[in-house]
Amino acid sequence: MMNKKQNLICCICGNECENNYGNNPYPLSVNGRCCNTCNIKVLESRFMVSQIKVGTRIVLDKDMDDPQPILKGEMGSVDFIDDMGQIHMKWDNGRTLALIFGTDEFHIISNSFKTLTIKKLEEMFKKYSLYSQDNVKDKKVILEVFIPYQNMYWLLLEGNRENDDFIFFGYCHIQVGEFGYVSYNEIFNVPYNIQYIYHSEPISLNELKNKYDM
Ligand SMILES: [Zn+2]
Repeated sequence: MMNKKQNLICCICGNECENNYGNNPYPLSVNGRCCNTCNIKVLESRFMVSQIKVGTRIVLDKDMDDPQPILKGEMGSVDFIDDMGQIHMKWDNGRTLALIFGTDEFHIISNSFKTLTIKKLEEMFKKYSLYSQDNVKDKKVILEVFIPYQNMYWLLLEGNRENDDFIFFGYCHIQVGEFGYVSYNEIFNVPYNIQYIYHSEPISLNELKNKYDM
């Protein structure tokens, strides 16, 4: 009599996997393997992890599961992500409860680049005019501009108004990464949904680059 060999059990949904290999469930689980159905959620989460960086602004979509929960609608900034994939937060209410992928519901707060005005940019870059970080070793990013779901971004370090435009200097990653100048109007006219995150407390360029390279 032939015994049907039992396949792996999915560590997420508990059903049998489609084969005996399963998939790597990180960041939804750090142990075991998952089935192909759950792997779709895993891949979505992995993409989200790649978008989450130190300083990324996050808003909660559901009360957290904790005796003293952080509540839906609370906002905060990412402090760091640990090896287990937990997102350690500095919540705006002063607390530090970490987010867990697959358990907590949240999304990244970013804004459309098209809502930025030259006036706002002047304010943001007041202390960071062009060349101001020339001799600085650990350069700081003021404005992070990116195209969601594409590996295209500008990590902007300095900027000055120039007539009806604003000239930035920063690290640009289109197909390869390089330092250079780009103007507000140039970015504005890129035919994608371009988003920005403003770092009122500027963030280390190297730290941000590492997160994007993950
Ligand atoms: Zn599953």
